[in-house]
Amino acid sequence: MPEYEAVIGLETHIQLNTTTKIFCACKADSWDDGPNTNICPVCTGMPGVLPVLNKAAVEKAVLLAAAMHADIQNLSFFDRKNYFYPDLPKGYQISQYDRSIARGGFMYLPLPEGARQVRIHKLHLEEDAGKTKNEFTSASGRRRLIDFNRCGVPLIEMVTGPDIHTADEAAAYLIRLRQLLRWLGVSEADMEKGHLRADANVSIRLKGSTVLNTKTEIKNVNSIEAVRSAIEKEIERQIREVEAGHSIKPWTLSWDDETQTLSKMRSKETEADYRYFREPDLLPVRLDDAWRAQILATLPELPLERRARFVQDYGLPAYDAEILTGERALSDYFEAAVKAYGGDPKTVSNWMMNDVLRMLNDRGLTATALNMTPAHLAEAIRLVDDKVINTSTGKALVPKVQDSGKSPKAIVEAEGLAKVSDEDAIRAIALQVLDASPAEVASYKAGKTTLMGWFVGQVMRQSRGKADPQTTRTLLEQLLQ
Ligand SMILES: [Zn+2]
Repeated sequence: MPEYEAVIGLETHIQLNTTTKIFCACKADSWDDGPNTNICPVCTGMPGVLPVLNKAAVEKAVLLAAAMHADIQNLSFFDRKNYFYPDLPKGYQISQYDRSIARGGFMYLPLPEGARQVRIHKLHLEEDAGKTKNEFTSASGRRRLIDFNRCGVPLIEMVTGPDIHTADEAAAYLIRLRQLLRWLGVSEADMEKGHLRADANVSIRLKGSTVLNTKTEIKNVNSIEAVRSAIEKEIERQIREVEAGHSIKPWTLSWDDETQTLSKMRSKETEADYRYFREPDLLPVRLDDAWRAQILATLPELPLERRARFVQDYGLPAYDAEILTGERALSDYFEAAVKAYGGDPKTVSNWMMNDVLRMLNDRGLTATALNMTPAHLAEAIRLVDDKVINTSTGKALVPKVQDSGKSPKAIVEAEGLAKVSDEDAIRAIALQVLDASPAEVASYKAGKTTLMGWFVGQVMRQSRGKADPQTTRTLLEQLLQ
């Protein structure tokens, strides 16, 4: 069988996390609100109203474009994309057609064989449409309900070039994009809530070929896992068709997450004529140098740059640097903790990866929800370094500090957690243990020296973990002789 290669392009719609909609003062995020609660004459297209562009939406678009290494335009325009659909009360969507806010650009996709540039073909601002929902009742039969809350919600449409070749790479692209959107603070990027939506164009070709064959479009995929599964299934289907001598039809396919299957939505006809024309109710967007500079001054160090710097400056393994830069707040936290601690950054990394992240994962939280400050973490590590407490007590402090907001030192004092290294106290406990275990003492003396671990464990337990293990072992050895 010949070897095939898939060619995949991803079209994403990103909901910007502005407070209000793109052309009116309605609340933008309606996730917790009932249908048709955040609407007004502007976003429902009443006659005689005028849209006013939300400055924050432009600023977030410029930030994203900069992070995509795109060419940000000093002058861009809005256009009307005309089509009829019940969830589009104006009869047109305000979008950007030929003069959008940015041109070109690329995103680095780190892959096992090295980073690859995925080109960005399109990046523009537009408004979202509403949502329709079918409802079936025995009384009225089928009803179609319309919710206009999403009308006018600011979106960025971003389309990649055909630079992705496997389902895993498509998933990796979306994971990177989601990380970047959150990092920049431009979108919550929650796919389950529709903040980040992805459609995939898929075609196949013989490996080594450069032709672009007929592609299909997969819609209705609302998680990264679904994108991966749907693309995998579609590549397999196309290979089967081609091997059977059939041609690929330019279908639009819908993914059903429950049955994990693709079904044909419609045959894709020639591209619809949207009769684009300039939006006459909006002024051109003029991004002068001062405004551009002001926006770009807020562009943070990007995740891949920071990851490289963590390896370079702190000597972290690439794996640690990758995990610690997964979220901007987490990487900021790490740097602050390293500074507060002053010792080996790898020690701080170990504590964060093993204890802080585990606690966050257990509780379903992200780093922004940390009550335990970087200074608290540094203090806990120092208490262990200075042998005031042992390691297991130190690790147990992490959730305690998170819950109480108290400093590690205050908790150690209040709960009497300081390590018992006083030999007399440990000897007293050890004697009790030996007195209570004549059978084990006899076995030990008969040569079963592996019982030492058990004796140490008993003393540790009776001291509620505070006895210093090394002192305990030394004392037990003396007593048993
Ligand atoms: Zn409105």
